[in-house]
Amino acid sequence: MNAKFTLLGTGGWIPTDRRETTCAILSMPEALFIFDAGTGLSRLLEERFRPELELGREVHIFLSHYHLDHIAGLVYLPAMFKSRKLYLHPPAAHITGSDPEETINAIIRKPFNPQALDDLPLDLSIVPVCEGPHTVGGVTVQIRKQIHADPSVAFRVNDLLVFATDTADDEGTAAFAMGVKMLVHEAWIDGVEEDDPATERIAREAYIAHTSARQAAACAAGAGVEKLVLCHLNPLRGAKYHEQMLLSAQKIFPGTVILEDGETVEL
Ligand SMILES: [Zn+2]
Ligand SMILES: [Zn+2]
Repeated sequence: MNAKFTLLGTGGWIPTDRRETTCAILSMPEALFIFDAGTGLSRLLEERFRPELELGREVHIFLSHYHLDHIAGLVYLPAMFKSRKLYLHPPAAHITGSDPEETINAIIRKPFNPQALDDLPLDLSIVPVCEGPHTVGGVTVQIRKQIHADPSVAFRVNDLLVFATDTADDEGTAAFAMGVKMLVHEAWIDGVEEDDPATERIAREAYIAHTSARQAAACAAGAGVEKLVLCHLNPLRGAKYHEQMLLSAQKIFPGTVILEDGETVEL
């Protein structure tokens, strides 16, 4: 399969000039997949991504969970997909405890947005996804529940890709990603904090909901993937810290990279 993966938003929580919040696209001949709709979705309006919007493929948007840094971009959709048929795939209610239709309609309405979801110039269908395999746009997508502050899900597309963000370190992820080419995994902290008694409380608490670069690298090694992309980087940590995270991960899994927003990997 001929597929291109682009991280449009490599950061978590707060968008910065360099790193918008989480959004990725997987561009395939069959369909355009979008994983999460953080502020990074805005980058689809950049000239370089115009061909992605013009191709008449099915567009499927998958949501890992409902935290705002992953859904803020839903209100940007009319700017890029006006009148296009869109499928939105949030996790099913039994995974998150929240009814998908109710939850999304509760956010995209007045006074949070000038128009309610139904009034936007979009042809959007909400199609929740349960755990397990699904055929979406002619492609096999598997869904797996993860451990996070609120439950989230990871996505596997054929043997190409696993997208696992907003998850605590989870031993099930390596089995889920076994044999894929590329694992895209969150990394919120380096990992050195774990053994350091001086680590501030907030960094310790991060382990409950998030993964360190070292843990992500161990997961990639266990899964036998070719490449690990660290994503959902912490905006309060500077470039130097992110560089340190990369080095820490590469010691455990040499095929680790950090991408810039908009950078593409051929799969
Ligand atoms: Zn997040
Ligand atoms: Zn989250």
